[in-house]
Amino acid sequence: MPHRYVKAIVQIRSGPYTRDGYGVSIMNGDPAAEPKLIRTAVDQAVNEAFIDAIDTYEMGWKDLAPYKLEDWAGNPALAHLQQSGPPAGVEDGAAPIQSFAVSNHKCLKCKENLTNAEWELLGRIPNLNRESLVYCFEHILAHLKRKLPEPVLTDFEEKRNS
Ligand SMILES: [Zn+2]
Repeated sequence: MPHRYVKAIVQIRSGPYTRDGYGVSIMNGDPAAEPKLIRTAVDQAVNEAFIDAIDTYEMGWKDLAPYKLEDWAGNPALAHLQQSGPPAGVEDGAAPIQSFAVSNHKCLKCKENLTNAEWELLGRIPNLNRESLVYCFEHILAHLKRKLPEPVLTDFEEKRNS
């Protein structure tokens, strides 16, 4: 309060995935004299935090892209998203039944085809280029496997063992 700003941090969870978002709101005025300012600032900061978190899921990007071609939608990653859609398993209710079906990606080590779930799991390793480092679950290099967020790994293993 002495600095007259509010910072909100939220975490949203969708299935095994969580995302953080933050928002900041500055109070133009004296909150001691005008307590309403606090409530407004908190509301704004929280709203901004949710938008920030949801944006990391790229929600709505595909729908908005056709209207923003001159703007942010011009980038190649988004053009790719428009043509191919989100990866399998990300949409609501997709996956459980199909996730252990075989994909057309071969493990570099054992040459077996990955399941869709294994392919998706590779996609969850931060900064991994899964087009070049293709491994089935058994053969994912240990240092890469350690980078997987715990809930993602747990979810994968639960499905795998069920
Ligand atoms: Zn393998």
